[in-house]
Amino acid sequence: MEDSNLPVGVAIIGGGPAGLSAGLQLVRANRRITVLDSNRPRHAATLRSHGFLTRDGVPPLEVRRLAREEFEGYPKARVAQAIASEVTPLSHEEAVAVGFPDGIGFRVRGTGVRGSADVEVISRRVLIAAGLTEDLPDLPMIRAYYGTALHSCIECDGFEKSDTPLVLIGETSDLFARALLISRISSDLVVLTNGADTITPTQEAQLASIGIRVERRKLDDIVGDQNGMTGVRLADGEVIPSVGGFVRPRWHAPVEFLGDNPVERDDWGLVVVNKRGETSVRGIYAVGDIVPPGPQQIAIAAGDGARVAAKLNMDMIRGALGVGLVDD
Ligand SMILES: Cc1cc2nc3c(=O)[nH]c(=O)nc-3n(C[C@H](O)[C@H](O)[C@H](O)COP(=O)(O)OP(=O)(O)OC[C@H]3O[C@@H](n4cnc5c(N)ncnc54)[C@H](O)[C@@H]3O)c2cc1C
Repeated sequence: MEDSNLPVGVAIIGGGPAGLSAGLQLVRANRRITVLDSNRPRHAATLRSHGFLTRDGVPPLEVRRLAREEFEGYPKARVAQAIASEVTPLSHEEAVAVGFPDGIGFRVRGTGVRGSADVEVISRRVLIAAGLTEDLPDLPMIRAYYGTALHSCIECDGFEKSDTPLVLIGETSDLFARALLISRISSDLVVLTNGADTITPTQEAQLASIGIRVERRKLDDIVGDQNGMTGVRLADGEVIPSVGGFVRPRWHAPVEFLGDNPVERDDWGLVVVNKRGETSVRGIYAVGDIVPPGPQQIAIAAGDGARVAAKLNMDMIRGALGVGLVDD
Protein backbone atom coordinates (compact mmCIF):
# COMPACT_ATOMS: atom_id res chain seq x y z
CA MET A 1 0.00 0.00 0.00
CA GLU A 2 1.36 3.43 -1.01
CA ASP A 3 2.03 6.15 1.56
CA SER A 4 -1.05 8.38 1.23
CA ASN A 5 1.01 11.46 2.19
CA LEU A 6 3.22 11.31 -0.91
CA PRO A 7 2.70 14.04 -3.51
CA VAL A 8 0.58 12.79 -6.39
CA GLY A 9 0.56 13.35 -10.13
CA VAL A 10 -3.07 14.35 -10.33
CA ALA A 11 -5.72 15.06 -7.71
CA ILE A 12 -9.03 14.27 -9.34
CA ILE A 13 -12.07 15.97 -7.85
CA GLY A 14 -15.07 13.74 -8.52
CA GLY A 15 -15.31 9.96 -8.76
CA GLY A 16 -17.96 9.62 -11.47
CA PRO A 17 -17.40 8.10 -14.92
CA ALA A 18 -15.27 11.06 -16.07
CA GLY A 19 -13.01 11.17 -13.02
CA LEU A 20 -12.55 7.43 -12.61
CA SER A 21 -11.97 6.86 -16.30
CA ALA A 22 -9.25 9.53 -16.28
CA GLY A 23 -7.89 8.03 -13.09
CA LEU A 24 -7.68 4.55 -14.62
CA GLN A 25 -5.72 5.80 -17.62
CA LEU A 26 -3.37 7.80 -15.40
CA VAL A 27 -2.56 5.00 -12.95
CA ARG A 28 -1.90 2.81 -15.96
CA ALA A 29 0.60 5.50 -17.05
CA ASN A 30 2.33 4.83 -13.74
CA ARG A 31 1.08 8.05 -12.10
CA ARG A 32 0.13 8.29 -8.44
CA ILE A 33 -3.49 9.45 -8.41
CA THR A 34 -5.89 10.49 -5.66
CA VAL A 35 -9.59 10.82 -6.39
CA LEU A 36 -11.61 12.87 -3.91
CA ASP A 37 -15.27 11.94 -4.16
CA SER A 38 -18.23 13.20 -2.17
CA ASN A 39 -20.34 10.36 -3.61
CA ARG A 40 -23.37 12.42 -4.61
CA PRO A 41 -23.79 11.81 -8.35
CA ARG A 42 -26.77 13.39 -10.10
CA HIS A 43 -27.82 10.11 -11.67
CA ALA A 44 -28.44 8.54 -8.24
CA ALA A 45 -32.06 9.64 -8.83
CA THR A 46 -32.56 6.92 -11.43
CA LEU A 47 -32.88 3.13 -11.09
CA ARG A 48 -31.35 2.02 -14.39
CA SER A 49 -28.79 3.58 -16.64
CA HIS A 50 -29.06 3.04 -20.37
CA GLY A 51 -26.89 3.33 -23.42
CA PHE A 52 -23.47 2.51 -21.96
CA LEU A 53 -22.23 -0.38 -24.05
CA THR A 54 -21.97 -3.64 -22.03
CA ARG A 55 -23.87 -2.03 -19.10
CA ASP A 56 -27.23 -1.15 -20.69
CA GLY A 57 -29.93 -1.33 -18.01
CA VAL A 58 -27.53 -1.65 -15.07
CA PRO A 59 -28.19 0.54 -11.98
CA PRO A 60 -25.95 3.62 -12.14
CA LEU A 61 -24.52 2.95 -8.69
CA GLU A 62 -23.35 -0.47 -9.91
CA VAL A 63 -21.54 1.19 -12.82
CA ARG A 64 -19.78 3.45 -10.30
CA ARG A 65 -18.94 0.53 -8.02
CA LEU A 66 -17.35 -1.41 -10.86
CA ALA A 67 -15.42 1.64 -12.05
CA ARG A 68 -14.05 2.33 -8.61
CA GLU A 69 -13.08 -1.31 -8.10
CA GLU A 70 -11.14 -1.34 -11.37
CA PHE A 71 -9.35 1.93 -10.55
CA GLU A 72 -8.50 0.88 -7.00
CA GLY A 73 -7.02 -2.36 -8.29
CA TYR A 74 -3.81 -0.42 -9.09
CA PRO A 75 -1.24 0.22 -6.36
CA LYS A 76 -0.89 3.95 -7.05
CA ALA A 77 -4.65 4.59 -7.00
CA ARG A 78 -6.42 6.05 -4.00
CA VAL A 79 -10.02 7.15 -3.49
CA ALA A 80 -10.72 9.46 -0.55
CA GLN A 81 -14.36 9.86 0.45
CA ALA A 82 -14.14 13.59 0.84
CA ILE A 83 -15.60 16.78 -0.54
CA ALA A 84 -12.90 19.03 -1.95
CA SER A 85 -13.14 22.32 -0.11
CA GLU A 86 -10.02 24.19 -1.21
CA VAL A 87 -7.59 24.14 -4.12
CA THR A 88 -4.66 26.53 -3.83
CA PRO A 89 -1.65 26.85 -6.14
CA LEU A 90 1.82 26.22 -4.74
CA SER A 91 4.51 28.80 -5.44
CA HIS A 92 7.08 27.79 -8.05
CA GLU A 93 9.64 27.18 -5.29
CA GLU A 94 7.23 25.08 -3.20
CA ALA A 95 6.34 22.97 -6.23
CA VAL A 96 9.99 22.36 -7.14
CA ALA A 97 10.77 21.57 -3.49
CA VAL A 98 8.20 18.74 -3.41
CA GLY A 99 9.63 17.31 -6.62
CA PHE A 100 7.42 18.85 -9.33
CA PRO A 101 10.01 19.64 -12.01
CA ASP A 102 8.01 22.25 -13.92
CA GLY A 103 7.25 24.26 -10.79
CA ILE A 104 3.48 23.81 -11.07
CA GLY A 105 1.58 22.29 -8.18
CA PHE A 106 -1.47 22.53 -5.95
CA ARG A 107 -2.62 21.85 -2.43
CA VAL A 108 -6.07 20.23 -2.38
CA ARG A 109 -7.97 20.02 0.88
CA GLY A 110 -11.04 17.92 1.42
CA THR A 111 -13.51 17.37 4.22
CA GLY A 112 -14.20 13.70 4.93
CA VAL A 113 -17.73 12.45 4.30
CA ARG A 114 -19.58 9.49 5.86
CA GLY A 115 -17.11 9.27 8.73
CA SER A 116 -13.98 9.40 6.55
CA ALA A 117 -11.00 11.51 7.59
CA ASP A 118 -10.24 14.94 6.14
CA VAL A 119 -7.57 14.85 3.43
CA GLU A 120 -4.82 17.09 2.13
CA VAL A 121 -3.18 16.23 -1.16
CA ILE A 122 -0.19 17.87 -2.86
CA SER A 123 -0.53 17.34 -6.61
CA ARG A 124 1.18 18.39 -9.84
CA ARG A 125 -2.09 18.84 -11.62
CA VAL A 126 -5.77 19.00 -10.68
CA LEU A 127 -8.57 17.47 -12.73
CA ILE A 128 -12.06 18.72 -11.95
CA ALA A 129 -14.61 16.01 -12.70
CA ALA A 130 -17.23 17.13 -10.18
CA GLY A 131 -20.25 16.83 -12.47
CA LEU A 132 -23.13 19.23 -11.93
CA THR A 133 -25.72 19.92 -9.31
CA GLU A 134 -29.21 20.68 -10.53
CA ASP A 135 -32.28 22.72 -9.61
CA LEU A 136 -35.57 21.38 -10.89
CA PRO A 137 -38.46 23.72 -11.75
CA ASP A 138 -40.10 24.90 -8.54
CA LEU A 139 -43.03 22.42 -8.30
CA PRO A 140 -43.67 20.80 -4.89
CA MET A 141 -44.00 17.15 -6.05
CA ILE A 142 -41.48 17.14 -8.89
CA ARG A 143 -38.72 15.40 -6.89
CA ALA A 144 -41.08 12.52 -6.08
CA TYR A 145 -41.39 11.68 -9.78
CA TYR A 146 -37.84 12.56 -10.87
CA GLY A 147 -35.91 9.48 -11.98
CA THR A 148 -39.02 7.32 -12.41
CA ALA A 149 -41.66 9.21 -14.45
CA LEU A 150 -39.73 12.38 -15.16
CA HIS A 151 -36.17 12.39 -16.47
CA SER A 152 -33.69 14.94 -17.71
CA CYS A 153 -31.66 12.91 -20.22
CA ILE A 154 -33.66 12.11 -23.35
CA GLU A 155 -31.03 9.77 -24.82
CA CYS A 156 -30.84 7.87 -21.51
CA ASP A 157 -34.53 7.37 -20.73
CA GLY A 158 -36.48 8.25 -23.85
CA PHE A 159 -36.77 4.81 -25.42
CA GLU A 160 -38.67 3.41 -22.42
CA LYS A 161 -41.31 6.13 -22.92
CA SER A 162 -42.04 5.41 -26.58
CA ASP A 163 -45.52 6.32 -27.80
CA THR A 164 -46.85 7.51 -24.43
CA PRO A 165 -48.36 10.93 -23.63
CA LEU A 166 -45.42 13.05 -22.49
CA VAL A 167 -44.63 16.51 -21.21
CA LEU A 168 -41.45 18.53 -21.45
CA ILE A 169 -41.09 20.99 -18.56
CA GLY A 170 -38.50 23.75 -18.60
CA GLU A 171 -37.79 27.44 -18.68
CA THR A 172 -34.62 27.68 -20.77
CA SER A 173 -33.90 28.56 -24.40
CA ASP A 174 -32.95 25.01 -25.42
CA LEU A 175 -36.52 23.65 -24.97
CA PHE A 176 -37.17 23.72 -28.70
CA ALA A 177 -34.20 21.45 -29.49
CA ARG A 178 -35.22 19.11 -26.70
CA ALA A 179 -38.78 18.92 -28.00
CA LEU A 180 -37.46 17.95 -31.44
CA LEU A 181 -35.42 15.16 -29.87
CA ILE A 182 -38.44 13.84 -27.95
CA SER A 183 -40.51 13.85 -31.16
CA ARG A 184 -38.51 10.74 -32.17
CA ILE A 185 -40.00 8.93 -29.18
CA SER A 186 -43.59 10.15 -29.00
CA SER A 187 -45.69 12.53 -31.06
CA ASP A 188 -48.01 13.00 -28.07
CA LEU A 189 -46.02 15.78 -26.43
CA VAL A 190 -46.91 19.06 -24.69
CA VAL A 191 -44.10 21.54 -23.97
CA LEU A 192 -44.71 23.40 -20.69
CA THR A 193 -42.71 26.63 -20.32
CA ASN A 194 -44.10 27.56 -16.86
CA GLY A 195 -44.65 31.15 -17.94
CA ALA A 196 -41.18 31.59 -19.49
CA ASP A 197 -40.92 33.16 -22.91
CA THR A 198 -38.30 30.80 -24.28
CA ILE A 199 -39.90 29.39 -27.41
CA THR A 200 -40.25 31.76 -30.36
CA PRO A 201 -43.49 31.95 -32.39
CA THR A 202 -41.60 30.43 -35.36
CA GLN A 203 -40.43 27.51 -33.24
CA GLU A 204 -43.95 27.08 -31.86
CA ALA A 205 -45.32 26.89 -35.41
CA GLN A 206 -42.65 24.35 -36.37
CA LEU A 207 -43.54 22.20 -33.38
CA ALA A 208 -47.25 22.52 -34.16
CA SER A 209 -46.57 21.21 -37.68
CA ILE A 210 -45.46 17.90 -36.14
CA GLY A 211 -48.30 17.81 -33.60
CA ILE A 212 -46.46 19.19 -30.57
CA ARG A 213 -48.30 21.81 -28.50
CA VAL A 214 -46.62 24.59 -26.51
CA GLU A 215 -48.36 25.60 -23.27
CA ARG A 216 -47.08 28.85 -21.76
CA ARG A 217 -49.33 29.08 -18.68
CA LYS A 218 -47.76 28.88 -15.19
CA LEU A 219 -47.67 25.44 -13.58
CA ASP A 220 -48.94 24.47 -10.14
CA ASP A 221 -47.68 20.91 -9.56
CA ILE A 222 -47.23 17.36 -10.83
CA VAL A 223 -50.19 15.11 -10.00
CA GLY A 224 -50.41 11.36 -9.66
CA ASP A 225 -51.99 8.37 -7.97
CA GLN A 226 -50.71 5.13 -6.43
CA ASN A 227 -49.62 3.94 -9.90
CA GLY A 228 -47.49 6.98 -10.67
CA MET A 229 -47.71 10.30 -12.44
CA THR A 230 -50.99 11.14 -14.15
CA GLY A 231 -50.48 14.72 -15.27
CA VAL A 232 -49.40 18.29 -14.68
CA ARG A 233 -51.76 20.78 -13.03
CA LEU A 234 -51.61 24.33 -14.32
CA ALA A 235 -51.95 27.32 -11.97
CA ASP A 236 -55.55 27.85 -13.15
CA GLY A 237 -56.47 24.26 -12.16
CA GLU A 238 -56.55 22.59 -15.57
CA VAL A 239 -54.73 19.24 -15.65
CA ILE A 240 -52.72 18.14 -18.69
CA PRO A 241 -52.79 14.31 -18.67
CA SER A 242 -49.39 12.67 -18.94
CA VAL A 243 -47.64 9.59 -17.58
CA GLY A 244 -44.24 11.24 -17.54
CA GLY A 245 -41.72 13.01 -19.65
CA PHE A 246 -38.71 15.23 -19.34
CA VAL A 247 -37.57 18.12 -17.21
CA ARG A 248 -34.89 20.63 -18.09
CA PRO A 249 -33.16 21.38 -14.77
CA ARG A 250 -30.93 24.41 -14.25
CA TRP A 251 -27.39 23.17 -13.74
CA HIS A 252 -24.71 24.49 -11.48
CA ALA A 253 -20.99 23.70 -11.76
CA PRO A 254 -19.82 23.13 -8.17
CA VAL A 255 -16.35 24.73 -8.18
CA GLU A 256 -16.57 26.79 -4.99
CA PHE A 257 -13.39 25.01 -3.83
CA LEU A 258 -11.43 27.23 -6.25
CA GLY A 259 -12.18 30.22 -4.02
CA ASP A 260 -10.47 33.36 -5.26
CA ASN A 261 -8.88 31.59 -8.23
CA PRO A 262 -11.96 30.94 -10.34
CA VAL A 263 -11.71 29.44 -13.78
CA GLU A 264 -13.38 30.91 -16.84
CA ARG A 265 -17.03 29.87 -17.32
CA ASP A 266 -19.40 30.11 -20.26
CA ASP A 267 -22.86 31.72 -20.30
CA TRP A 268 -24.39 28.57 -18.77
CA GLY A 269 -21.80 28.60 -15.96
CA LEU A 270 -19.95 25.56 -17.35
CA VAL A 271 -16.17 25.37 -16.97
CA VAL A 272 -14.44 26.45 -20.18
CA VAL A 273 -11.53 24.24 -21.32
CA ASN A 274 -9.20 24.22 -24.31
CA LYS A 275 -8.98 21.20 -26.59
CA ARG A 276 -6.56 19.48 -24.21
CA GLY A 277 -9.09 19.82 -21.40
CA GLU A 278 -7.16 22.52 -19.51
CA THR A 279 -9.05 25.41 -17.89
CA SER A 280 -8.01 29.05 -17.89
CA VAL A 281 -5.80 28.26 -14.86
CA ARG A 282 -2.55 26.54 -15.86
CA GLY A 283 -2.42 23.04 -14.41
CA ILE A 284 -6.14 22.76 -13.63
CA TYR A 285 -8.04 20.57 -16.06
CA ALA A 286 -11.76 19.73 -16.22
CA VAL A 287 -13.80 16.98 -17.82
CA GLY A 288 -17.24 15.37 -17.92
CA ASP A 289 -20.63 17.00 -17.44
CA ILE A 290 -19.05 20.10 -15.90
CA VAL A 291 -17.54 21.28 -19.22
CA PRO A 292 -19.45 22.49 -22.31
CA PRO A 293 -21.80 21.41 -23.74
CA GLY A 294 -22.87 20.22 -20.27
CA PRO A 295 -24.74 17.09 -19.24
CA GLN A 296 -24.37 14.21 -21.65
CA GLN A 297 -23.99 10.49 -20.99
CA ILE A 298 -21.80 8.03 -19.11
CA ALA A 299 -20.08 6.85 -22.30
CA ILE A 300 -19.19 10.41 -23.25
CA ALA A 301 -17.98 11.33 -19.75
CA ALA A 302 -15.86 8.18 -19.57
CA GLY A 303 -14.49 8.69 -23.10
CA ASP A 304 -13.59 12.30 -22.38
CA GLY A 305 -11.95 11.22 -19.14
CA ALA A 306 -9.66 8.89 -21.09
CA ARG A 307 -8.93 11.54 -23.72
CA VAL A 308 -8.04 14.28 -21.23
CA ALA A 309 -5.98 11.84 -19.14
CA ALA A 310 -3.73 11.29 -22.16
CA LYS A 311 -3.25 15.05 -22.56
CA LEU A 312 -2.54 15.45 -18.85
CA ASN A 313 0.02 12.69 -18.92
CA MET A 314 1.82 14.26 -21.90
CA ASP A 315 1.69 17.69 -20.25
CA MET A 316 3.54 16.25 -17.22
CA ILE A 317 6.04 14.35 -19.35
CA ARG A 318 6.83 17.49 -21.33
CA GLY A 319 6.87 19.61 -18.16
CA ALA A 320 9.48 17.32 -16.61
CA LEU A 321 11.69 17.59 -19.69
CA GLY A 322 11.12 21.31 -20.09
CA VAL A 323 10.16 20.84 -23.73
CA GLY A 324 7.00 22.92 -23.56
CA LEU A 325 3.41 22.25 -24.41
CA VAL A 326 2.24 21.05 -27.77
CA ASP A 327 -1.00 19.29 -28.41
CA ASP A 328 0.08 16.11 -30.14
C1 LIG B 1 -31.35 11.23 -13.33
C2 LIG B 1 -30.25 10.95 -14.33
C3 LIG B 1 -30.25 9.80 -15.09
C4 LIG B 1 -29.22 9.53 -15.97
N1 LIG B 1 -29.27 8.39 -16.70
C5 LIG B 1 -28.26 8.09 -17.54
C6 LIG B 1 -28.30 6.90 -18.32
O1 LIG B 1 -29.25 6.11 -18.23
N2 LIG B 1 -27.27 6.66 -19.18
C7 LIG B 1 -26.22 7.52 -19.32
O2 LIG B 1 -25.32 7.24 -20.11
N3 LIG B 1 -26.18 8.66 -18.61
C8 LIG B 1 -27.16 8.98 -17.73
N4 LIG B 1 -27.14 10.15 -17.04
C9 LIG B 1 -26.05 11.09 -17.29
C10 LIG B 1 -24.78 10.61 -16.59
O3 LIG B 1 -25.09 10.25 -15.27
C11 LIG B 1 -23.75 11.73 -16.61
O4 LIG B 1 -23.54 12.19 -17.92
C12 LIG B 1 -22.42 11.23 -16.04
O5 LIG B 1 -22.60 10.66 -14.77
C13 LIG B 1 -21.44 12.40 -15.92
O6 LIG B 1 -20.26 11.93 -15.34
P1 LIG B 1 -19.31 12.90 -14.51
O7 LIG B 1 -18.21 12.03 -14.03
O8 LIG B 1 -18.99 14.11 -15.30
O9 LIG B 1 -20.19 13.43 -13.28
P2 LIG B 1 -20.95 12.64 -12.12
O10 LIG B 1 -21.32 11.28 -12.52
O11 LIG B 1 -22.05 13.57 -11.69
O12 LIG B 1 -19.87 12.52 -10.96
C14 LIG B 1 -19.38 13.64 -10.29
C15 LIG B 1 -18.88 13.20 -8.94
O13 LIG B 1 -18.19 14.30 -8.34
C16 LIG B 1 -18.53 14.37 -6.98
N5 LIG B 1 -18.26 15.73 -6.49
C17 LIG B 1 -18.91 16.89 -6.77
N6 LIG B 1 -18.34 17.92 -6.13
C18 LIG B 1 -17.29 17.40 -5.42
C19 LIG B 1 -16.32 17.95 -4.55
N7 LIG B 1 -16.27 19.27 -4.24
N8 LIG B 1 -15.43 17.11 -3.97
C20 LIG B 1 -15.43 15.77 -4.24
N9 LIG B 1 -16.33 15.19 -5.08
C21 LIG B 1 -17.25 16.00 -5.66
C22 LIG B 1 -20.00 13.96 -6.95
O14 LIG B 1 -20.40 13.51 -5.67
C23 LIG B 1 -19.99 12.82 -7.97
O15 LIG B 1 -19.69 11.58 -7.36
C24 LIG B 1 -28.16 10.45 -16.13
C25 LIG B 1 -28.14 11.63 -15.37
C26 LIG B 1 -29.18 11.87 -14.47
C27 LIG B 1 -29.15 13.13 -13.67
